[in-house]
Amino acid sequence: KSIISIQNLTKSYGSTAVLKGVNLEVKKGEVVAIIGPSGSGKSTMLRCINAMEKITGGDILFNGKSIANMKNLPELRKDIGMVFQHFNLFPHMTVLKNVMYAPVTVRKEPRDHAQQYAMKLLKKVDMYSKMDVYPSTLSGGQKQRVAIARALAMKPEILLFDEPTSALDPEMVGEVLAVMKELAKTGMTMIVVTHEMGFAREVANKVAFMDEGIVMEEGTPEEVFDK
Ligand code: ADP
Ligand code: ADP
Repeated sequence: KSIISIQNLTKSYGSTAVLKGVNLEVKKGEVVAIIGPSGSGKSTMLRCINAMEKITGGDILFNGKSIANMKNLPELRKDIGMVFQHFNLFPHMTVLKNVMYAPVTVRKEPRDHAQQYAMKLLKKVDMYSKMDVYPSTLSGGQKQRVAIARALAMKPEILLFDEPTSALDPEMVGEVLAVMKELAKTGMTMIVVTHEMGFAREVANKVAFMDEGIVMEEGTPEEVFDK
């Protein structure tokens, strides 16, 4: 059973067609790597999945339900987490507050409960010792690990990653990929737009190669890379 089913998805900005009929299935527990040249529509597709963009045609089903007709988008976004290239942490909040923010304000969790869970997640991404500092004092790799903890704090069913390591200095790419790899091992369903072919080959169950607004090729890493 698919968590996400993308069916003939199209997206245009004015007269410019960016997605031209994308089809993709993502099953529970799968890690799907989206690869392809810059401008091929990868990021647009991710933004359509969590309804940051309104789709032009086709459909996206989340657990069998069309997101095009969903009224309650905040509800949908609780279930679909997103990690961005540029971290998007709140600069005026400590690391711990960043991770607690959405559970407390959106999910209305009691503070002590949210705090305990946030601390547990910060341990998981190896950022526990930095919980009281502000994001500006962190390296890019550390910021991205906090961003991952923040996304996990909402207990999403699926996590979307939009080039999570592209803005990092090379020496920090590994620590972020390591956290993502650990997450994959726990069974988290993930869609990862990435230029890291090593990650796609080693961690992904499925690789989709996008070009010119469609999925040109799709298969296991072996099927896509070893021909
Ligand atoms: P990728 O993630 O594969 O690099 P994107 O989805 O970011 O590709 O972009 C695909 C194409 O859509 C690009 O040509 C880009 O210029 C265009 N595009 C993306 N967002 C917008 C927008 N808000 N308005 C107009 N064009 C856009
Ligand atoms: P330092 O803070 O000294 O730079 P880190 O604690 O950030 O070191 O990371 C040390 C190494 O452990 C990293 O190179 C990374 O590969 C790995 N690592 C860090 N966090 C995790 C994690 N949550 N899961 C798996 N490996 C991790």
